[in-house]
Amino acid sequence: MFSKDNDRYSRQIRFGPIGAGGQQRFDQARVLVIGVGALGSASSEMLARAGVGFLRLVDRDFVDWSNLQRQSLYCERDVKEGLPKAIAAANRLREINSNITIDPVVADVLPTNIGELAQDMDLIVDGTDHFDIRFLINDISIVLGVPWVFGGCLGAEGQVMTIVPGETPCLRCWMPDGPPMQTDTCDSVGVIGPIVQLVASLQVAEVMKVLVDAREAICGGLQAFSLWDSRFRQISGANLRDGKNCLACDQKSFEWLYGEKFTSATKLCGRNSVQISPGIARQLDLGRLADTLKAAHSVTHNAYLLRVTVDTLRVTAFADGRAIIEGTEDVAQARTLYTRLFG
Ligand SMILES: [Zn+2]
Repeated sequence: MFSKDNDRYSRQIRFGPIGAGGQQRFDQARVLVIGVGALGSASSEMLARAGVGFLRLVDRDFVDWSNLQRQSLYCERDVKEGLPKAIAAANRLREINSNITIDPVVADVLPTNIGELAQDMDLIVDGTDHFDIRFLINDISIVLGVPWVFGGCLGAEGQVMTIVPGETPCLRCWMPDGPPMQTDTCDSVGVIGPIVQLVASLQVAEVMKVLVDAREAICGGLQAFSLWDSRFRQISGANLRDGKNCLACDQKSFEWLYGEKFTSATKLCGRNSVQISPGIARQLDLGRLADTLKAAHSVTHNAYLLRVTVDTLRVTAFADGRAIIEGTEDVAQARTLYTRLFG
């Protein structure tokens, strides 16, 4: 290591549990950050500053004005230039630390590409805020034996969880039935900057523990925060593995990676539309959804469907969670909008 590296990382090296050996591990580490929106911005910045040697950033989206309030890597120029988040993030991180390798990938994370994205990685950071992709990350994490750190935030609430395959409960151990029914999104109930920074900070602390192999320091449970009423909780996962019948870690049934559970998106030929079909039947409460979406969008609904217009796109959603997005043939754009509106 050059002496300027010793200077750069000196305060971190002086922190006993990391030390010079830990710094060397950071330097050799390869970390995959899935989603560089709010959480991914904050966590990848901390990882780059800490000297993690290889960061792969995957995101399908572009920088938008509504991102700047909390997505800390981006600036107005990125919006004006219409840059994809992965590229804008890589530009910024290279300015922060030119000694590490940044590998930006502009792509949708899917069952067909997650294996390639995650192979040879030491760890995966969840920056998606999207349960469908988290279950996919959980599957590949077990298949490849790569730990991952879950992070979620909405409003002023957040959660963090570290999953080390074979050692701590996996996401499916916590949620055997798959993703929770969730209709609130950042689009409907908003999100504030401080919860993003808090969740990302806890995620990165967990990443550091895993990378330096501080197994005893890793939080084996779920950490949950509600910043607006100052509540902090830790839920133990200690007995979740007692029965040992998890579909993912015990039965090796990877339904998001190899099965039908991942949400599919199909172009509807000649209609300038994309259809999104959740792999798990959902039950959207159309009336309630219409009420929350009305705050920001033009919405109509009846007993069977809900219509919402966002810029030039018209979205028709059905109670089973299926949606048709008219005005685009861009599958990634359609997925992004679907996630924004319906979680
Ligand atoms: Zn499990």
